[in-house]
Amino acid sequence: MTAGKARIFTAETVHTMTGSEVTAFATFGETIVATGGVDGLRARFPEAEVHDFGNSVLLPGFNDAHQHPSIMAEQLLEVDCSPELIGSRAELFAALAERAARTPAGQWVIGSRYDHAKSTGATVVTRAELDRICPQHPVFLRQIGMHWGVLNSAGLRAAGLDENTELPEGGELGRDAQGRLTGTVYERAMFELVEPAIPERGIDERLRGLHRYQEMMHAAGITSVGDALVWPRGLRLLQEAHAREELTLRVNMLLAYPGVDAMATLGMRTGLGDSRLRVGGIKAFVDGAVAGGTCLLEEPYQDSCGHGIQAMPTGELRDFVSRVHAAGSTVCVHANGDRAIRLLLDAVEAAQREHPRPLARHRIEHCTLVDPDLSARIAALGMVAVPFGSYVAFHGEKLSGYYGNARAERMFAHRMLLDAGIPVAGSSDFPCGPYDVRLALRSCVTRETADGTLLGADQRISKEEAIALYTTGSAYACGEEDRKGRIAEGMLADFVLLDRDPRIVPDRELTDITVEQTWVGAERVWSREHPSR
Ligand SMILES: [Zn+2]
Repeated sequence: MTAGKARIFTAETVHTMTGSEVTAFATFGETIVATGGVDGLRARFPEAEVHDFGNSVLLPGFNDAHQHPSIMAEQLLEVDCSPELIGSRAELFAALAERAARTPAGQWVIGSRYDHAKSTGATVVTRAELDRICPQHPVFLRQIGMHWGVLNSAGLRAAGLDENTELPEGGELGRDAQGRLTGTVYERAMFELVEPAIPERGIDERLRGLHRYQEMMHAAGITSVGDALVWPRGLRLLQEAHAREELTLRVNMLLAYPGVDAMATLGMRTGLGDSRLRVGGIKAFVDGAVAGGTCLLEEPYQDSCGHGIQAMPTGELRDFVSRVHAAGSTVCVHANGDRAIRLLLDAVEAAQREHPRPLARHRIEHCTLVDPDLSARIAALGMVAVPFGSYVAFHGEKLSGYYGNARAERMFAHRMLLDAGIPVAGSSDFPCGPYDVRLALRSCVTRETADGTLLGADQRISKEEAIALYTTGSAYACGEEDRKGRIAEGMLADFVLLDRDPRIVPDRELTDITVEQTWVGAERVWSREHPSR
């Protein structure tokens, strides 16, 4: 820990995000206490240890306002079924069988980040296939977007699911023509019936997963994240890491929606915690996923007459928003499609009429498909948009097929949102999207898909604006703009060193920039030379 120690940091280029340039700053403990030139600071703090980063480019640490650290800490311990590793059914089954072979019979075998579109020829594996591969173990294969998964027969039994199970509204089980369960579980059936049936691993094992996760983030220059769905087991993990002083990533937690009662009972609200680990709000869902083609739309999908799925009934959504709002907490609701966003805005407007809270700063997680009317309503409510940063680059080429070109062009509408005066954060939704901030910057600036097609030229933003999403924008979205996102007096000394200045590299070369070092609270947490500190 750095308590009581003064330090001076200097680099040729310090991108402060304040509008004024400096070449050095001094810190005391975790906090920046002065900025300016190195000579002046040396004179003021003669005892300070000086770190000279030469011609590296220093920026505030990246802040990814919506991703899933507590869930990923566990997924890193499970079978990695990422499309980068698994290219066929045979590879998927081999990976599951290999894990089953070294897992005692009867214990769960879990695969994560399964992408049927990229790994199993666009058809979802079935319960029967999983039964053949792993007859002795309950198996759960979690889809990469985390809105559905597949169980084998032992898994269905272990989760207490059969043809007659009563499901929460917004949850579903896949059935074949005879009505038999296929093993697929959707949304709230997965969150509320399957996940809790999986026993919690020991804390030391889970901390190992969290350490791996933190190192991945720091290697990408990320110093703060929003954990956008914290269940009780995730809260226990993050609290334990914090208690052991092992939380090098700052985490703003969005507690899972069933916690609304507990928060009310205990009198807890947004802001509880400290600069390492704090309660940022409560998370709920109105609809499904962009890339899964399940978000809730006003006009039907391009290739079907469906409008997508509503994950939380309108009455329940209104009740949730009204209770969180009245309790003084932050509503953080997942809404991708234009109809989902409209339903959420209706609910927030109603809550504001009942209990006016002009500075409530509620969040729309993803806020994918907007139009000028929705944008005006979001701005009028003072709400924050947390759109995907890298989805044009990552998912762009399949979007026109689902949504048609006109709609795909105004998805992740950074330009429209900023022009409407809406505060906008940067987010990856990792593992649903890649967490590489450089890719997000390139995607927002170029609006080019992986094959180089321009998708929505009108929504392009400048490099400065893109950097702001992942620094000042995310800090504001998490209610921490007084401590994060800028290099200025009073801010936490969280910063990243890059080999090139993202403000001046050609757009397409943003992804060629190298992260050299990452610092949190004036402590180095990652360096390219010595990855483990
Ligand atoms: Zn998410």
